[in-house]
Amino acid sequence: MIEAIELTKTYNGFSAVNRVSFEVAEGETLGLIGTSGCGKSTTLKMLNRLIEPTAGRVFIGGEDTRKSQPEKLRRSIGYAIQETGLFPHYTVAENVAVVPRLLKWPDKRIARRTEELLELVGLSPEEFTRRYPHELSGGQQQRVGLARALAADPPIVLLDEPFGALDRITRRQIQQEFKQLESLLRKTVVLVTHDIFEAVTLCDRICVMDRGIVQQIGTPKTLVFQPDNDFVRDFFQADRFQLELYVTQLQDVMPWVSAQESSSEAAKRYTEEEHLLTVLEDMEESSLKSSRVQIVDRQNQPILTTHCQDLLTAFYRFKESF
Ligand code: ADP
Repeated sequence: MIEAIELTKTYNGFSAVNRVSFEVAEGETLGLIGTSGCGKSTTLKMLNRLIEPTAGRVFIGGEDTRKSQPEKLRRSIGYAIQETGLFPHYTVAENVAVVPRLLKWPDKRIARRTEELLELVGLSPEEFTRRYPHELSGGQQQRVGLARALAADPPIVLLDEPFGALDRITRRQIQQEFKQLESLLRKTVVLVTHDIFEAVTLCDRICVMDRGIVQQIGTPKTLVFQPDNDFVRDFFQADRFQLELYVTQLQDVMPWVSAQESSSEAAKRYTEEEHLLTVLEDMEESSLKSSRVQIVDRQNQPILTTHCQDLLTAFYRFKESF
């Protein structure tokens, strides 16, 4: 869907982005992550030609973006940024409708779509359509920014720290909501973030950058358990144990669960996709002394029942398998 080939941006001899290549498949979410100033935003902006590359190419749906008119290209790609970029003199509804208006949609269709989107991002249309950005909290503004990026139902959405201005708790909440929203919409997404937990929560694959250069591209699991170099290893070093448990799903450790229990009585039930961290955190809080866990498949059919402690042992063996 998106193919970046050797993208390069040089400012007065300084390489902000240096031969960055990646592909994003249809429906996939790719994260661009790295320390501040490593070239994430510049890379993202070269995808929709907000910045023209010094060298390299971008193909979208097989088409070289150099052949499209930049304005037309940008209208076909959703774009949301941390600062939201909402127009202060436009109401919420007018802000959401910017691209549909440019595309000359009929008024009725625009009104319907605006209402639908506000509901989707958790803002009640009755309450919010006529408000101005300064009458919204930071979180609400970011939700409007997201609604605007999705307004014309673009197949591709570029997000630059879209939850960056939020406090940690609100950010985690909106990330969870967005995860559901995004899978619902099956968009192809490129997400710039410096928040590792955001990246591993929302992205199918993550591209780690340093000083304009790609260090590694892989799934969250690959990056955490099989870093290609010291930079990537160190990047994921803070909160490593928590991160390891977070990227590990029950289905990953199942082959190493030896002690299975026959009775599922008083066991807490989880699907095989659940993150190990969630299970262990629940167990810590729960008054269930036995801490027994029943793992079920997507159809809710039991697969096995085990003890929480055995899950942890299985996790260490899973880790060793890399
Ligand atoms: P990130 O998004 O990873 O924080 P950026 O892509 O914004 O980083 O910037 C990458 C590097 O390029 C930084 O060192 C930044 O200072 C530099 N840079 C960005 N834009 C310009 C510009 N217009 N002129 C000169 N240097 C720039």
